[in-house]
Amino acid sequence: MSDVPPLPQGSTIGILGGGQLGRMLALAAARLGMKTHIYCPDPESPAFDVTPRKTVAAYDDEAALASFAAQVDVVTYEFENVPAKTAAFLQNLKPLRPGANALAVSQDRLAEKAFLTINRIPVAPFAAITDLDRLEAELEEIGTPAVLKTTRLGYDGKGQRIVRNMEDAALAWELLSPKPLVLEGFIAFEKEISVVVARNAGGEVAAFEPAENVHRDHILKTSTVPADISKKTAQKAVALAGDIASALDYVGVLGVEFFVLPGGKLLVNEIAPRVHNSGHWTEAVAITDQFEQHIRAISNWPLGDPSRMADVVMENLIGDEITAIPDKLGEGLRPHAYGKAESRKGRKMGHINRVAVKKRAK
Ligand code: AMP
Repeated sequence: MSDVPPLPQGSTIGILGGGQLGRMLALAAARLGMKTHIYCPDPESPAFDVTPRKTVAAYDDEAALASFAAQVDVVTYEFENVPAKTAAFLQNLKPLRPGANALAVSQDRLAEKAFLTINRIPVAPFAAITDLDRLEAELEEIGTPAVLKTTRLGYDGKGQRIVRNMEDAALAWELLSPKPLVLEGFIAFEKEISVVVARNAGGEVAAFEPAENVHRDHILKTSTVPADISKKTAQKAVALAGDIASALDYVGVLGVEFFVLPGGKLLVNEIAPRVHNSGHWTEAVAITDQFEQHIRAISNWPLGDPSRMADVVMENLIGDEITAIPDKLGEGLRPHAYGKAESRKGRKMGHINRVAVKKRAK
């Protein structure tokens, strides 16, 4: 056990970010008898619908941050791009879990890859790119195709470009510079999987099984569990995710995305210091879901049982696909709508878990 005492029931968890992940964390916290206070600049945040305590203010509004901190017992977040200054300011006032180090590492692709490499976690070949000459030199080294990415603020395929040959280099440089960039070898992966792992302050670790992820237009479309990978690959992925959490001295739930190469070799693509879209399946078929697991971890409660009770496919509902929900209430279907006012193209509006219901023999 750790020296950190568990938060008593009825404590208030402060959550930075009011999107669907914050909303689902607040719902899980309520089930454990915890209160939540959501901090988000957007007055239309979907998380505001599920808890009465909220602050609508900018992330650099120090008076609002101080007042928020005074009203909560611990601070967590639902997105990795919390400004470093905000994290540092809050950390001085209340425990921030996961800590600022996890944010710093995961906000910057270069820092992340350096951290993983130092900790002997395999990643794609990579190089920092500072100018076109360097890009051309590294393309010689890493080979083409390769992927040029902004080191910060990229998500759902934004801020990256495949460089297919040397002639592509100048255009890719022009489109993405002058932001700091990283070049990665293009990985001809067989599939993409992810592991959601939890760790508490006592060092206890619990991982969910790997999910197999399929993207459409760079956005996660489905996560299938069990993933179609060998037991050995699954065990390796779970072990690597646990190693990353321990190396970060992490507290909370962490998402780790992997490329699976032919033959089962794994490379870590990226890590997310928060509950993860590819873990939404746990809501329907894990004994403890990822949201409850995060609340337990940051409250320094014992972690829950991550065992899976049935096979499942989680499907994201993107844009107008949300209108399908009233029709999707049949056997084995667990819909979840995020309550977003406006459905835009590419916007995650909800998800459905398709549970493979086991029939009882008559
Ligand atoms: P990211 O934003 O880095 O997670 O990239 C989004 C998606 O682009 C990944 O899930 C992969 O499908 C693809 N991708 C990213 N980096 C690479 C790479 N180095 N090699 C091949 N595909 C990649």
